[in-house]
Amino acid sequence: MPSTDRTGDRLRIGVLALQGDFAEHLSMLREDGEGGVDAVEVRTLAQLDDVDGLVIPGGESTTIARLLIAFELLEPLRERIRGGLPVWGTCAGAILLADDVPALDREPIGVMDMTVDRNAFGSQVDSFEADLDIAGLEGPPLRAIFIRAPVFRRVGEGVEVLAALADGRIVAARQGDLLATSFHPELTDDRRLHRYFADICRARASVTDATEGAARTAS
Ligand code: GLN
Repeated sequence: MPSTDRTGDRLRIGVLALQGDFAEHLSMLREDGEGGVDAVEVRTLAQLDDVDGLVIPGGESTTIARLLIAFELLEPLRERIRGGLPVWGTCAGAILLADDVPALDREPIGVMDMTVDRNAFGSQVDSFEADLDIAGLEGPPLRAIFIRAPVFRRVGEGVEVLAALADGRIVAARQGDLLATSFHPELTDDRRLHRYFADICRARASVTDATEGAARTAS
């Protein structure tokens, strides 16, 4: 759990910065600094242990999967997630969260009960945008950008579907404090999903603080 001193009760959200569009997520989270969020790059175990939540960006899931192994982060990340660390995967990041990815040549992190098909809409030229109603988000539909995007072909019982395309294909899901979106909110100027994830992290951090406080009192 986070160890360094914080300014007030600001939340610290990490973005896995091994490959992909982590810079866009960082600026999206930072622009919302008035919302009480600090955003930091995560490439090491020490950095991972100092965040209240982690975003895994879009990019190339095969590359990120290899780099997680090379940077010795795969197993620690699984452990932190089992211990309650909230994680949001976008596109390649969502692929890595799934526990069943037939077309991935390395192990995924494998913490969400779902089957994900990579490149389900075709190649780069088949990129598209769609307006999505997302459960839990107030306001108008969110403009979603799909770039060589996956779909979540099967989701388990504990997984809540947050959004689907008009043809029923699932593109956003949540399992406890894990969030997966097959599109790229960080490439728009709509911060609602970043705030949604920050709320998950904030709720988790306050539970953890309360538990640690109780443990301190008891000892
Ligand atoms: N097609 C990529 C993959 O399989 C994901 C694309 C993206 O993140 N925009 O990893």
